[in-house]
Amino acid sequence: MKLKRRGFLGGFNRFRLMLTLGLAVVLPAAALIYLNFSQLRAFERDKVLEAAIHRDFQEMLAITEKKMNLKAYAMTEEARNLFPSPDIEPAEREKKLDAVLAKSPWLDHAFLFAEKGAVVRSQPRLVGDKYILEEQERMVKGYHDWFGKEGKMMVEAMHKKPRPISIYTEQTKRADGKAYMTTAYFVLPQLSSDRVVMGGVCFDPAYLKETLFSGVIQEMVKQKSTDQGGNQIAMMVYPVNMEMWDEVKPLAVSGGWGEGKPEVFRKLDDVFRGLALGIKYQGTSVEALGRTWMHRSFLILGCLSLLIIVGLVLTKHIVSKEMALARLKSDFVSNVSHELRTPLALIRLYAETLELGRITTQEKKQQYYRIIRKESERLTALINNILDFSRIEAGGKEYEFRNTDIAELVRNTLESYRYQIEQQGFAFEESIDSNLPAVPVDREAIARALVNLVNNALKYSSDEKFLGVKLYRDNGVVKLEVADHGIGIARRDQSKIFEKFYRAGDPLVHNTKGSGLGLSLVRHITQAHGGEIAVESTPGRGSKFILSLPLASATQQPAVS
Ligand code: ADP
Repeated sequence: MKLKRRGFLGGFNRFRLMLTLGLAVVLPAAALIYLNFSQLRAFERDKVLEAAIHRDFQEMLAITEKKMNLKAYAMTEEARNLFPSPDIEPAEREKKLDAVLAKSPWLDHAFLFAEKGAVVRSQPRLVGDKYILEEQERMVKGYHDWFGKEGKMMVEAMHKKPRPISIYTEQTKRADGKAYMTTAYFVLPQLSSDRVVMGGVCFDPAYLKETLFSGVIQEMVKQKSTDQGGNQIAMMVYPVNMEMWDEVKPLAVSGGWGEGKPEVFRKLDDVFRGLALGIKYQGTSVEALGRTWMHRSFLILGCLSLLIIVGLVLTKHIVSKEMALARLKSDFVSNVSHELRTPLALIRLYAETLELGRITTQEKKQQYYRIIRKESERLTALINNILDFSRIEAGGKEYEFRNTDIAELVRNTLESYRYQIEQQGFAFEESIDSNLPAVPVDREAIARALVNLVNNALKYSSDEKFLGVKLYRDNGVVKLEVADHGIGIARRDQSKIFEKFYRAGDPLVHNTKGSGLGLSLVRHITQAHGGEIAVESTPGRGSKFILSLPLASATQQPAVS
């Protein structure tokens, strides 16, 4: 009944532990791992990282376009402020326009359309160029063709804008092939709005390519790399009206473009309409980056999950160990109570019988006295073990080492047990080397260790009752062997029997009284003497405990574990 209840309680505790571990640790950990994995999967499937990079790229391209536009407007503004009035002498006007061109070498042409006629001036260094001449002629023709009709309307429209400037880009030609020229039209700042007068400048295609576009994209690339570090980007400006990517000839490229198409592009639709901006990573693609990022994330998550699992397994292991110890302790309490009760009951029974005076034969009386003495000795031994154990646990056990004739100590100790041994029907073999040197030991402790070993040999023998005790010198140590032909110890138990409270699971052991303290005391005593305890045993054949003590003194006192 009792056993059943204990079993139930043990089972209940384990159930509670599993429930706590399960609900409080395993479930949340598993949920966390699962959520992370599925989130990463979703990231992978929806290409979240790629989309984020694309958005970032789009934003950069928009900023780049804005910067290019602002630059064009600022330069136009600068030229516009230098423009002459249309009302001065024609020769004077030309001179002033030439001064504008001289001050702004990035302009190819400067022109002034007024009610009375048009002046078109070009950079002196380009005057012989046939393409420049063609452009000049086109402009003069344009003045006659449309300015007369639409000029008034255009000027009015321009005055309504917050900035009275219109800029657009068109394809033209230069000696080295196709080129893109940007022209800015504006009304003059110093004229009243009813005047139909328009000024304009044409940006040199080579300047646009080599200085303006290049400068802005170079600056963006540099800024991005100092902002973020990591992967370097590359940018380019190219004409948009190309059918095939292979035919694209970039107008301006930042360093490190290498090969290939832009990852993200933006068609410019204001000042530089007809051109496009492209961006990509140097030496890698967004897709490849996404892939490596995914791999890395999965790897990190995998490692973390592994760590969590190892942690859980360790926790369970430790908690189970603690629970096993708690169980051993509760077994110990019931074992000890049992062990105390039996001898006490016997002592009481025999003492009462003697007291009643019913026993007449001397022999019988002697037998009863012997039983009373034997049982009280057992009680003393048990209580000594428990006291020693609690001293050791509290760290207060002290040993007194004295040079001792160990052969005499062993012989004396066995002597007081000889009767009991032989009475229980044991064949007792004793082999003690009397020529041993004196060994520094604590007499009482060594005697207790020997008594515990002998007691175990007697307790755990069933059919073949044999007890052998040997004391001899072996390679600088003194060995004390206690052997029996008893039930033996299973291999897996052999390392554990020296732990406190541990008793082998064998039913033969459980039917035998014991506290599980004896061998842990033996080990503590041996180690305090700088010695070692070992066991050799075969289940069903018997056991042999070998206690070795060094001849030189050693006095450290390790705690019982
Ligand atoms: P106790 O004998 O009080 O149970 P011990 O610490 O002396 O405690 O022994 C621990 C366990 O080691 C025993 O319960 C028993 O299973 C095993 N044991 C010890 N000595 C022997 C032996 N001579 N033969 C078989 N088993 C033994």
